[in-house]
Amino acid sequence: MGYEGYIRLPVHLLPEDGRFGSGPTRVRQSTLDGLAALGASYMGTSHRRPTVRRMVGRVRAGLTEMFELPDGYEVVLGNGGATGFWDAATFGLIEKASQHLSFGEFSSKFARAVTGAPHLDPPEIIEAPPGTHPLPSPSGRIDLYALTHNETSTGVTMPLSRVDAEGLTVVDATSAAGAIPVDPQQFDVYYFSPQKALGGDGGMYVALCSQAAIERIRQIEGSDRWIPPFLSLGSALSNSVKDQTYNTPALGTIFMLADTLEWINGNGGLSWATQRCQANARVLYGWAEKHPMAEPFVSDPNLRSIVTATIDFKAPLSGDDLAATLRQNGLLDMESYRKLGQNQLRIGMWPSIPTADVEALTACLDYLIEAFLNQR
Ligand SMILES: *Cc1c(COP(=O)(O)O)cnc(C)c1O
Repeated sequence: MGYEGYIRLPVHLLPEDGRFGSGPTRVRQSTLDGLAALGASYMGTSHRRPTVRRMVGRVRAGLTEMFELPDGYEVVLGNGGATGFWDAATFGLIEKASQHLSFGEFSSKFARAVTGAPHLDPPEIIEAPPGTHPLPSPSGRIDLYALTHNETSTGVTMPLSRVDAEGLTVVDATSAAGAIPVDPQQFDVYYFSPQKALGGDGGMYVALCSQAAIERIRQIEGSDRWIPPFLSLGSALSNSVKDQTYNTPALGTIFMLADTLEWINGNGGLSWATQRCQANARVLYGWAEKHPMAEPFVSDPNLRSIVTATIDFKAPLSGDDLAATLRQNGLLDMESYRKLGQNQLRIGMWPSIPTADVEALTACLDYLIEAFLNQR
């Protein structure tokens, strides 16, 4: 339908904060205030000195506590985000052949990064239509299974369990870590960027690594394979255990990540963050199921993400028009994932978002939908 000008939402309907994006996500004001308060005693100081290294130590301790990492697991940090980690894993974690579950934009990207690597066999790629997820297929020739805990582009969460005893189970947890429950016995590597559920900023990756993953890293590092130094997981590991990174990290994101971890851990840990997201998801999916013009895109309720909701709209409503009008009212970043090609909104429901704001958002949507339909 045609978009015919600016509909102003009544102020009393607006949420306290308008950030509902899927990444970067809402960073709590108290985190931003905390960073500003630290100011010159932290920002602009050397990452090789105790002030920053202690902050990295807080991140590593906070993650170890949040995920209840068993003895022998290590928290590895490096620059480059989850996307950088795919290249690092292509060089330093896959021995010969990997298998990738592909069910959306992000899960397909690791497979693409591996395809064509001259030192590897072509990867096995198992696909499923958007809105669902495929299952791994254990195989003797596969030494790394690449899973995605939450496919951020489609809003599908898949259950996690170790695929087999021989291959490493390596999980992209970028939008899951810090919100969706996980058992560390079920993964060898659980890696993510901090700008989704954990309220940090982009640019860095975190990889929680099992003993088997560490052994694999060391074994490949000791082989004759050439590895670009920046992508070396061996040097990421040896720097991380000293609370450092191979090259200069963004100090702001390290503080923001430490602060968010301590906020969640101090309130009851991962299960508390999960409950916050579940409460948000109940409100939003409940609204969509009841509204005659809306519908959750993911039809199986068990697969619906509690952090990124994809909500379809029926003609003559247009998701693009809704997103644009929300944006004009200061409610940001709910545009659908372009390549998915659905008439929808994608809405973040992160631990940083209080349920009252999700309730306010549904009231805003009710108001806008009615206004759009009446304009016709
Ligand atoms: C956002 C996202 C990425 C990419 O993260 P970058 O920090 O931009 O590299 C990868 N995987 C998933 C599941 C994501 O949500």
